Amino acid sequence: MTTNSRVKKIGVFTSGGDAPGMNAAIRAVVRTAIFHGIEVVGVREGYNGLIEGHFTKMGPRSVSNIINLGGTILKSARSMEFKTPEGRKKAFENCQQQGIEALVCIGGDGTFTGAQIFSEEHGIKVIGVPGTIDNDIFGTDFTIGFDTALNTAMEAIDKIRDTATSHSRVFFIEVMGRDAGFIALNSGIATGAVDILIPERNDSLEDLFRNFEKAKKRGKNSSIVVIAEGETLASTYELANKTKEKFPDYDIRVAILGHIQRGGSPSCADRVLASRLGYGAVIGLMKGLTNVMAGIRSNQLVYTPIEDAIKKHNEINQDLLQISEILAL
Ligand code: ATP
Repeated sequence: MTTNSRVKKIGVFTSGGDAPGMNAAIRAVVRTAIFHGIEVVGVREGYNGLIEGHFTKMGPRSVSNIINLGGTILKSARSMEFKTPEGRKKAFENCQQQGIEALVCIGGDGTFTGAQIFSEEHGIKVIGVPGTIDNDIFGTDFTIGFDTALNTAMEAIDKIRDTATSHSRVFFIEVMGRDAGFIALNSGIATGAVDILIPERNDSLEDLFRNFEKAKKRGKNSSIVVIAEGETLASTYELANKTKEKFPDYDIRVAILGHIQRGGSPSCADRVLASRLGYGAVIGLMKGLTNVMAGIRSNQLVYTPIEDAIKKHNEINQDLLQISEILAL
């Protein structure tokens, strides 16, 4: 994972699902590299841009006024062609033509899988920066975009709570997280949800109904249930329908928060995290690291083998699960 030759030119791109704070990460990569005399090429639209040759020379001013912007100025894409050896060969030839010796890959585990395969096949250096709202990457306490998405979800749920209380309604609110319940668990605790359903736990309808009965006995006249998109028990609409069958007098509504959770200006925490990780990626490359991901653990910059970042998983904090149950009293 360590090589000795000094890197003179790097490429940077964003890939997979976009996340607030990706721009702050691009800015940090560009400015840290330029500070250390390394040239930077921006690759547009992730792996598609490597294959199609969508390259832009980046300087300190090309990343002015972007730290506060959601989305990604380099655009993101999901590239089927990069999953083929032919696609990756084209991508490597373009890198060679540009003189790109190393790539900073900002994205989620799919992006890292692609980077690892590309590096093994063609020997190009790669370093990952975890940019995904789901917070499901091993090797970092937080991923870029998670904090902003969480705050967006929390604000939306707060607003729904106002109407739920006024009309004595039960709301089933679905938040993002295809495979992970971090947004659901944290936003659920932050908004006082009566129940939180996440894919990491074996939820049951019996437990859900028991929580409703308890809430009713304690005099709650409205309830919020937060459900992760990837919940395996049933879809959010099915859960709402089954609850209606069980409690016909409930006035039940469903809200799917959807893509608003990906957008918006990044929070302060995400801007700082993205700045640290973008900086850390370039420093890592300068130290000769490759096939690793930059992360922050216990407030320290750390590098984790990409293989571990892809294969291992961050566990859900059991204390948070217990807290969510106790505080729903
Ligand atoms: P998010 O977690 O936000 O969805 P992600 O990085 O996991 O982000 P993916 O769509 O899974 O998003 O992956 C991004 C891109 O990485 C894919 O479109 C593809 O180009 C590349 N990629 C993913 N898996 C592979 C693979 N096995 N081989 C080559 N490339 C891959």
